[in-house]
Parts: sequence; structure tokens; C-alpha cells
Amino acid sequence: MSKNHRGKALSKLPSRGRGTCPVCKTKRIKLLYTLLTENGTKLTVCKRCQHKTVSV
Ligand SMILES: [Zn+2]
Repeated sequence: MSKNHRGKALSKLPSRGRGTCPVCKTKRIKLLYTLLTENGTKLTVCKRCQHKTVSV
């Protein structure tokens, strides 16, 4: 795996990888990490939330 979260790879993503984090509600942050919730749902979250445990 190369640097998927840096540089030109970001421009290929929807909104260039930015959006509102569903966990911490920060707007226009880069959402680059997949978080698996306790019920098996995948969320795309920011780097600050990537290790959180989320129950939805
Ligand atoms: Zn977040």
C-alpha cells in the first residue's frame, strides 16, 4: 500500500476526501478512515476518530 491518504490520491475521492465527520461533527475535515461500528456499519471518519468505538 502506498500513500493513499496523501497528495493526488485525495483528488480522486468524492469532495477530495473532505466532508463532515459523523463522529465528531467537524466540517470540511478529511475523511480518510473507515471505522467499523459495534453493529457492523462502516463509517468514514477523520483521523481523530479512527480508533474510537462507536455504537449507533
Ligand atoms: Zn471525527
